Amino acid sequence: MELNTKTKSLAKVQTHLVAECFNKLYIGGEFVDPIDGEKYPTYYPATGELLHEFPRGKANDVESAIAAANAAWAEGTWAGMPAASRAEIVAKMAQGIEDNLEMLAEIEAADVGKPYRQAAKGMGGAAGEGKYWCSLGKALDAEQDVPVNSGGGEGGVPPSEWNVVYRRDPIGVIGLISAWNYPMNVAFRKVAPALVAGNCAILKPSEIAGLSCMFIGKLAQDAGIPPGVFNVVTGDGEAGAALAASPGVSMISFTGSTLTGSKIMGACAQKLSQVALELGGKSALVVFDDTDLDKAVETTMKGFLTNGGQICTAHTRLIVQESIKSPLLKKLKEELEKLPFCTDPITEKDRGDRAWEDGMTDVVQPIVCDSQHKKIMGFLHEAKRAGVEFLTGGNVPDAETVGNSGGYFIQPTVLINVERDADVWQKEVFGPVLSVRSFSTEQEAVLEANSTAFGLASTVMSADPAKAMRVANRIRAGAVYATSNGEGLLAEHPAVSRGGFGCSGIGREKGIIGLHEYTELKSVNYTGFSLADAKK
Ligand code: NDP
Repeated sequence: MELNTKTKSLAKVQTHLVAECFNKLYIGGEFVDPIDGEKYPTYYPATGELLHEFPRGKANDVESAIAAANAAWAEGTWAGMPAASRAEIVAKMAQGIEDNLEMLAEIEAADVGKPYRQAAKGMGGAAGEGKYWCSLGKALDAEQDVPVNSGGGEGGVPPSEWNVVYRRDPIGVIGLISAWNYPMNVAFRKVAPALVAGNCAILKPSEIAGLSCMFIGKLAQDAGIPPGVFNVVTGDGEAGAALAASPGVSMISFTGSTLTGSKIMGACAQKLSQVALELGGKSALVVFDDTDLDKAVETTMKGFLTNGGQICTAHTRLIVQESIKSPLLKKLKEELEKLPFCTDPITEKDRGDRAWEDGMTDVVQPIVCDSQHKKIMGFLHEAKRAGVEFLTGGNVPDAETVGNSGGYFIQPTVLINVERDADVWQKEVFGPVLSVRSFSTEQEAVLEANSTAFGLASTVMSADPAKAMRVANRIRAGAVYATSNGEGLLAEHPAVSRGGFGCSGIGREKGIIGLHEYTELKSVNYTGFSLADAKK
């Protein structure tokens, strides 16, 4: 049978996926089959064709990985090395991502359905961020045996007979549970700092799209990470739950939904182990009427459509000043209805005619899988039933409009005059759906922005710098942007820590604070000798 274009591109990705690392679990330094021998299918979101079948690790495989990690932890070689030496080894893993960028980006394009350009940009970001973590190895070493000072407070000086230093120890065996939307970025943002800090780790990527993460096992093996220090178990929620509940795991670093995050926190509470939770969001874009209209529309589209709206920091609530609401919504509708659908994300390499920022929102990509598609459409059906007004979208586009059939597409959708207590205002839809409300005064803008339980990110647009900063400072979110032109929206830098207020999470990722999340602070008091004596 003659292969059509889309199948040809898929066939190319499938040639990457024959490698051992995409077909086995990585436990104790070896690629192994899952104990029960089960597999999971994953499909190309643009056409619904079978992409690959990967191993379904279950609780018994998780136990093997935990045993391997605990054996490596007890042996102590990795934790005993200076952080700078560990960082040199982890840097080889980051370099491995860069060296295999095209292959890994093609795999993510096929697995998530994101346009290749965006996948490649994300992959470059993962490698760069990995190198940043490694550059912090020396900084972590410099934080060992640091004399305790009084902090300036009265009575804060330890008794003169005490000598006290602080150390930052690794925590132990850590479970890293990651989401599917930016698979490599989310996973390697955990793997690199956990390892540089001296921990042993087990990565459990998402079953929905985690193929690129399986390559991290090979990177660890090639880099010479000692057996058991790093392990990968693919599987579903059962594997994640087993990891979270195990007494052999001292911390869970989780990125995913708020619902799963609360379950994980419950499991960790039972054994009083550490958690770091990077959860969902419902970020606000506040637009004042002194903003350039074209820039406001561009920023709105980028904010809610990047990665098909499947991004934790998606700006899915537009809060627009009443005086420019009509012209802004008119232009937004016109622009959205012009956007083409991305029929073949794997080969979507060269489009750029509407490139507001390379790799960003100039096409509508498919939703990652059938179950997420159904979940989003469920929100839209409920909104229709409840009488919410649709400015545009709301439906599954027909095959002719998309340009192929079988994919999980949804029209970019804008809901207007949404009630504050509506699900589409309060809950994370995780798809191309924007909800709009308006305001008159600055005070109202702040109230609207802070009107959900989430607090991950938000943006304020105004030509008045003082107003933009004033409002940004009053928004309750872990990362806030104040801008007159929308530049830098969704941009991230590895040195800039971020995390959630409220239901968006606990803890901070990135920056030195992000590295500290993978350490325990310890004080060592010594008497009867000097520190110099101890180091002889
Ligand atoms: P989920 O919460 O559904 O899943 C996240 C991970 O947890 C997956 O690996 C999943 O496995 C696993 N899991 C599922 N159930 C359990 C359980 N009971 N115990 C332990 N682990 C479990 O999130 P998604 O993968 O759908 O990711 C999307 C979510 O992630 C969105 O809410 C998004 O906002 C958030 N996110 C947050 C980011 C941030 O930095 N704040 C960044 C990126 C995404 P499996 O998928 O195999 O079932």
